[in-house]
Amino acid sequence: MTQDDPQAVVDLRSDTVTRPGPGMRAAMAGAEVGDDLFGEDPTVRALEERLAGLFGFPAALFVPSGVMANQIGLQLLVGPGEELVCEAEAHVLAHEEASPARYGGIQTRTVSAERGVLTAAALAGVVRRGNPYTLGTRAVEVEQTHTRAGGTVHPLETLHGIRELTARAGLAVHMDGARIWNAMAATGTSAAAYGATVDSLAVCLSKGLGAPVGSVLLLAAEHLPRARRLRHGLGGGMRQSGILAAAGLYALDHHVERVHEDHAHAGLLARGLRDAGFAVRPPETNIVLVEVPGAEAITARAAEEGVRVTAPGPDVVRLVTHLDVGGAACRRAVEVLVDVMTEHVREARLVAPAGHW
Ligand SMILES: *Cc1c(COP(=O)(O)O)cnc(C)c1O
Repeated sequence: MTQDDPQAVVDLRSDTVTRPGPGMRAAMAGAEVGDDLFGEDPTVRALEERLAGLFGFPAALFVPSGVMANQIGLQLLVGPGEELVCEAEAHVLAHEEASPARYGGIQTRTVSAERGVLTAAALAGVVRRGNPYTLGTRAVEVEQTHTRAGGTVHPLETLHGIRELTARAGLAVHMDGARIWNAMAATGTSAAAYGATVDSLAVCLSKGLGAPVGSVLLLAAEHLPRARRLRHGLGGGMRQSGILAAAGLYALDHHVERVHEDHAHAGLLARGLRDAGFAVRPPETNIVLVEVPGAEAITARAAEEGVRVTAPGPDVVRLVTHLDVGGAACRRAVEVLVDVMTEHVREARLVAPAGHW
């Protein structure tokens, strides 16, 4: 049953909810494997080489999750007692269990950027040079696309600006590119062009690309031995992981060219909700944010009607499109959400004390 089936639940909670189809499962079942801790899994190596080539990096490391890719990337660039600067709503701060502090001993300092998009101008006021009594900045982290801001894109020129500033200041740059595929589809910018703007890059295979597991960290060749040791220490050393890497290779062959469809579906959702009078932030990629009071209650009601969404804030409903939702499912989601939100807003008005609205 696909989500376009009128009876099916439409799951828009995240682009991580996709399930591997028969082609991907067949590729996994047929994968050639070896022990990757000995560096002997040919399918893992093929995936790493393919992504390194695509993004223009000399080395790559397959890891179980995006969190691990980010944490290894940050620890390679920033040591204990050193400082990382990132955007205030960054995934590495909000959703990674304080790992920069806990496992890396890293001090983080934040800057709030409009739509989560860091710029050289914003960073110029924050990064600082160290001296015997001032902790200097070691690296900057950017998120492409920015999840909590609603899948917003750092344009290539903006990244070039950040690169110039950081190069002048002697700082490294890590990119959390969990959804870089969405940025590529939205802008037509090549993988290599984005890759050239940073020192390390984490890309995800299990979000827009629909693999069951896996991220790849792209990095400098001299960092690879330490990256492998950090992965092992974090509990991410894997053995016959070619079975998982095969899903990633399949996704690269079959699921990259279609990412723009997710953006068309996000546009469809946004237009439907906006036309019904709701405050929708125009989606740049595959994430739609709706500003509406009572988001938790709306989420619960919509789930009863077979449409699953999330409430990242008390007044924000989030919808994420992906490989497993088509146009019909999105149209059904609009109908259900318009009904549920309209009813909720009307009820809230009835019970609000006089003058509250
Ligand atoms: C999902 C996500 C991650 C983490 O990926 P996991 O595979 O869930 O660990 C990191 N960064 C961003 C921006 C994400 O959206």
